[in-house]
Amino acid sequence: MLYLKSCPRCAGDINADSDMYGMFLKCLQCGFSKDISPEMARNLFGEQDATPEAATGRPDQQVA
Ligand SMILES: [Zn+2]
Repeated sequence: MLYLKSCPRCAGDINADSDMYGMFLKCLQCGFSKDISPEMARNLFGEQDATPEAATGRPDQQVA
């Protein structure tokens, strides 16, 4: 996954990737990198799995 202009150091493009240690962010321009926890990854990337809470409480229900 690629996040344009998201680098806190150079405002470059951040690539989110994972290896055997977990997920990390890396800037394509300056090489800035940061490890992130699975919880952070979910918050940042909004992964669709294992979030049953997200399916409830939607405000788009109409009351006739
Ligand atoms: Zn950068």
